[in-house]
Amino acid sequence: MSTVTLTIENTIAVITINNPPINATSHSVRAGIVDALDQIDANKAIKAAILICDGKTFIAGADVGEFGLPPKDPILPDVIIRLESARVPVIAAIHGHALGGGLEVALGCHYRIADVSAKLGLPEVNLGLIPGAGGTIRLPRLIATSDAISMITSGKPITATKANDLGLINAIAHGALRDAAMDFAQTIVHHPKPESLLQRAPQSALSEAQWDDIIAATTKKARGQIAPVTALFSIRTGIEKGSESGLLFEREQFVELRDSEQSKALRHIFFAERAVTKLPELDGVKPNAIHEVGVIGGGIMGAGIATASLLAGFKVTMIERDEAACEKGRVTVEKHLAGSLKRGMITQDRYDERLASFATSTDYAKLGDADIVVEAVFEDMAVKHDVFGKLSLHCKADAVLASNTSYLDINEIAAKCINPARVIGLHFFSPAHIMKLLEVVRTDKANAQSLATAFAFGRALGKIAVPCGVCDGFIGNRIMSAYRKHCEYMLEDGALPHQIDAGMVEFGFPMGLFAMQDMAGLEISWATRKRLAPFRDPSERYVALGDYLCEMERFGKKNGLGWYRYDENGKAYPDPDVDALVIAESAKKGITRRDFTNEEIIDTILTAMRDEGKKILSEGIANSPDAIDVVMVNGYGFPRHKGGPMYLTTRTKE
Ligand code: NAD
Repeated sequence: MSTVTLTIENTIAVITINNPPINATSHSVRAGIVDALDQIDANKAIKAAILICDGKTFIAGADVGEFGLPPKDPILPDVIIRLESARVPVIAAIHGHALGGGLEVALGCHYRIADVSAKLGLPEVNLGLIPGAGGTIRLPRLIATSDAISMITSGKPITATKANDLGLINAIAHGALRDAAMDFAQTIVHHPKPESLLQRAPQSALSEAQWDDIIAATTKKARGQIAPVTALFSIRTGIEKGSESGLLFEREQFVELRDSEQSKALRHIFFAERAVTKLPELDGVKPNAIHEVGVIGGGIMGAGIATASLLAGFKVTMIERDEAACEKGRVTVEKHLAGSLKRGMITQDRYDERLASFATSTDYAKLGDADIVVEAVFEDMAVKHDVFGKLSLHCKADAVLASNTSYLDINEIAAKCINPARVIGLHFFSPAHIMKLLEVVRTDKANAQSLATAFAFGRALGKIAVPCGVCDGFIGNRIMSAYRKHCEYMLEDGALPHQIDAGMVEFGFPMGLFAMQDMAGLEISWATRKRLAPFRDPSERYVALGDYLCEMERFGKKNGLGWYRYDENGKAYPDPDVDALVIAESAKKGITRRDFTNEEIIDTILTAMRDEGKKILSEGIANSPDAIDVVMVNGYGFPRHKGGPMYLTTRTKE
């Protein structure tokens, strides 16, 4: 069946695209649109045309199957120019998503009308690209330059309501989109066809100083990513040198970026994120239905997990130790939900309704109807055993019981349960209602039903759920422990904490390891080290600097002293006392200190990550190198545009 069909109703032509699943701009669609326009031009009875899509969405992007293939005429930029030159006005009727090439097609149309739930965006920068079919030139001719810049450089889609406010669409469709588009067409047939966006003057020009500020801010925010800054230059060229020069510049930059290492790395991680969450062995396994969620513990993680579950639409019961802790947990959840309300992610009605679906209690019997329970109590095996013992007694037989433990052996936790087959790990990242990553830990005895339910839960929460096996730290924390060890070796061998952090930031991490430790608080890992001390291999090199800091009550940012010294505004400064401590430790161990370049620092970190990653793979803890990349990029600040440690090191080091 053809992917584009043309029908005519009285004097209105309807071009319908049907290219599931996302109505991508595949070759057949591009050719079909041109063919339909030729027919419309030839039929003088037609007064206007509507471009609409079947299925769940408007055109939501390019055809990934055509990535890397030589372009086949008609290419998208030409199709859009052809749309602009149609004899009659064309109305884009948008539902679902109009993204990337999809929004560029809509910009080639003379009017845009969108369903109220539609989202519109130019997300190309997320793949290391810029819009390549006129988006950077046309958008600033339709909406204010600052809004166009924000949409293009952030890559974030906007809602139909926002698009309407900005002037990106002409109307919001109330009721059926096709009918609304038909009505709209009737209102414009008697007006002359509007000039194309390319013919229009830009909405607003910016001064030299304004451009300087925007370029500086975008460069800083991009942290080494080229595409957002390139997009700015393309927008500027279109505004200052005119449409024609702008289009040429945009195309040239698009092609260059498409072949760049950054875009390849970003595409790698984009596809990896979609692939790693699929487990072939769960094909055909039907997950349990989830309506009610139990959360044990209302601390940092419990409150975040409860919030994420509420935002996903579940009824949530939180169990705490006493009434005061219940109250504290409730207040934190309320605060998180209020944050979502403030950011416009939920309406006041939704906020009220979600809060009404939340309860706290000290009584485990309240979990009798829970379909899945996530435990987030203190990191202590005895406490976990006590909690899982109670869950075994009070929860229904097929409720999935999950632990959010960071390091403890979940097989051991499961062993004390009446039915260990339903015990799994769900390792969330802080803040749990915001971070997208979730490690789903299969215990030795976990059955397929529980795993399928856990993945379904992760998906419902909007998480990237990565399967992994039981080990100390799972995928992410285990790799972090490995490279932290090597960072500590570097301290004794000659680097200072702020030098290692500077190397990491230059590479693209949002912050260095030592600044991150200060932020998390040093005493938790100190407690873990003390717990594991009896099991430590005495022949293995051990760096005690972190212990010394805690003994000096330097617990990190919260008490103003850690690896760094903090001023009253929380700004970090390298501390000469810490430098002296580090240097003295090298002397004590008889190590001659040497200088480390940023390149050596990063090389050491990447090698440690890769080596631990290989061990994790050989033990079957991660299913693929891609899973490791996805975890490190989404949970540990590894720069996305470098593709992840396994991708980067196997591409460049072997
Ligand atoms: P937290 O100290 O902030 O909260 C723990 C909560 O559990 C407290 O409110 C406490 O009152 C409650 N609690 C203790 N025993 C209980 C019991 N028997 N019944 C009910 N409630 C009980 O700790 P957290 O940072 O939220 O960590 C919780 C778990 O999540 C730990 O296992 C931790 O390793 C893990 N984790 C933490 C992070 C993080 O970044 N903080 C990230 C991933 C996983």
